Amino acid sequence: MIRKGTTLNIVRIGNDITYSSLKTIGERIIDAFNGIIAGYELAHHETPFVESIDAQLLTMILQQEIGGHTLGITDADLKTGDRDEFYQTIFGGKNPKNDVAVVSTRKLAPKQITTTREYELFLDRTIKVSLHEVGHNLGLTDHAVYRAAPDGTLCPMSRGEYNKFGTAGYVRAIIDGRGLMFCDECTHFLQQVYGVRFRAKRCVNGPRGRLEDRNHLSGC
Ligand SMILES: [Zn+2]
Ligand SMILES: [Zn+2]
Repeated sequence: MIRKGTTLNIVRIGNDITYSSLKTIGERIIDAFNGIIAGYELAHHETPFVESIDAQLLTMILQQEIGGHTLGITDADLKTGDRDEFYQTIFGGKNPKNDVAVVSTRKLAPKQITTTREYELFLDRTIKVSLHEVGHNLGLTDHAVYRAAPDGTLCPMSRGEYNKFGTAGYVRAIIDGRGLMFCDECTHFLQQVYGVRFRAKRCVNGPRGRLEDRNHLSGC
């Protein structure tokens, strides 16, 4: 169980994301979980793998090497043992046996990243998937159906019911549609469990959608 005032370890695995971007991710997470996550620490994990790694194995490595409340961000594909091809690689996952979540940036990049705007879109998506997985670490569960936050964006815990449009469509409809503000149900849960009244400081706009991923490990 994560306690109020936790520090989040944000661990870069691979090299595709800059430290200043990791700081932005950390700040957004603190803003979204205002009063629950007090701060973050950045770390880098050297890795022999390049293309892909088993998601569960990565959470176990990070638990052993870093421990505590941890978010790993990798540019490698995160693999699962799912028989459905769509779910054989995932956007992110959380190990229900510890407080470690992992996010893959591999499917979040636009076709090319040559402009500031394209990089910001990539970073924005990484933040949203990170928020979803850290939300799981704090006890939040997926919304199988469309759920809006007070600002009209999709709650970060939105997952949808099933995939209709493939990976790229899912990224645009669900991940881009998420904001940084949680819906009333998630807010109520966090207030009950952590005894705080928190409010996201920033919000972003995006298209609404209704889809799903299975962007987490078994039991999540
Ligand atoms: Zn999830
Ligand atoms: Zn919610």
